[in-house]
Amino acid sequence: MSELAYFGGPSLFEVPKSTSNLLTPDVEKFLTYSKAFYHEHQYTNNGPNVKALEQRLAEFHQVKHCLVFSSGFWALALAMKYLKLEGKTEVIMPSLTYRRMTDICAWAGLTPKFCEVDEDTLAMTAQSVEDCITSQTALILAAHPIVNCADAQALEDLSLRYNLPLLFDSVESVYEDLPQGRVGGFGAAECFSLHACKLINGFGGGYLTTNDSTLMETLAAQRTFGITGLDTIGVCGGFNAKLNEMHAAMALASLDDVDEQVRLNEARYRCYQERLSYISGIRLLEFDDAQRCGFKNIVAEIEDDWPLSRSDTIKLLNAENILARVYYDPPLHKKRMLFPHIPAALPISERLSQRFVNLPCGQQVSLEDIGQIIDFLEFVSENHREINAALRERCNE
Ligand SMILES: *Cc1c(COP(=O)(O)O)cnc(C)c1O
Repeated sequence: MSELAYFGGPSLFEVPKSTSNLLTPDVEKFLTYSKAFYHEHQYTNNGPNVKALEQRLAEFHQVKHCLVFSSGFWALALAMKYLKLEGKTEVIMPSLTYRRMTDICAWAGLTPKFCEVDEDTLAMTAQSVEDCITSQTALILAAHPIVNCADAQALEDLSLRYNLPLLFDSVESVYEDLPQGRVGGFGAAECFSLHACKLINGFGGGYLTTNDSTLMETLAAQRTFGITGLDTIGVCGGFNAKLNEMHAAMALASLDDVDEQVRLNEARYRCYQERLSYISGIRLLEFDDAQRCGFKNIVAEIEDDWPLSRSDTIKLLNAENILARVYYDPPLHKKRMLFPHIPAALPISERLSQRFVNLPCGQQVSLEDIGQIIDFLEFVSENHREINAALRERCNE
């Protein structure tokens, strides 16, 4: 017992193993792209890398337009502000999602109306959204879960049936295909992030994809102070939410490497899949690999027959520098919020928020590391009696 880091032993890993992707593209590629803007002395405002990145991302997602932003946050907030129905106040969105999503709604002047998710897919469904539609619905904000996708086509059909605008947060589904097409082309628009821990690392940044030219032109002006032409400024207000050239250079270098990264992610995922299948009580959320997918995140369910609580399991792992984290817990409707929201009872989201963990993945986690992580889980499972007793003793100290 004393060898476990939680009880004072040395950590299994010296360097922390994180659940973030932390992808580092080839530095030479980054420098080559950087030289382009450096030589042209154009560091921001639609420089060569921003233009190239927008074109390549539009091709990547098979859509007409892509706009890059300073963050995924601002891509979402500006798209929400633009798309929401005039005079209405509510945005329908899942509660089991990204922890800052309600802040984004507040910036867009909308009140969250939280919908339930499906027990098996962890995704919102057309039915759960339909249950939340009221005379005040201004927008549907569809967020994909972090393993596999929501049924984007069913959500799109619903939005057309009710004449409601539909915006996707597809940050976790950059690489995915659905039977009806590539992620990026559903709804009025889809938003993505270029944060350093996402599949495409631009140090930070975000982007939006759409087939709607008016939406594209309006948001292009808004992200640049509302400027619509030489010395003309639009009336609908503006922000400074541009992406600079250095970030675009990094994102281009990451995009060059993305297929290779996904191949490496898949190898890690297969390793977890193989080894976890021998451990009872922990179930890997499997990717639907009948479609193209990015294999980016590793999420596992702590089942009822796992002999430790989820929080004790995470404590033990974290002490070993295995930075496992809870999956979207607390759900947003349970979080303290200072801005308006509509109270909801969401028993499925609440139950699911207690059951899942994100496990280490991405470029900085090797197959050997994964082997050690799983050996550790096996050790914990086999020695659960002593470990639980020691944990209780520690609690009573
Ligand atoms: C990271 C993330 C965002 C925000 O993106 P930033 O670029 O960090 O602002 C939005 N939604 C989801 C689901 C995310 O994971």
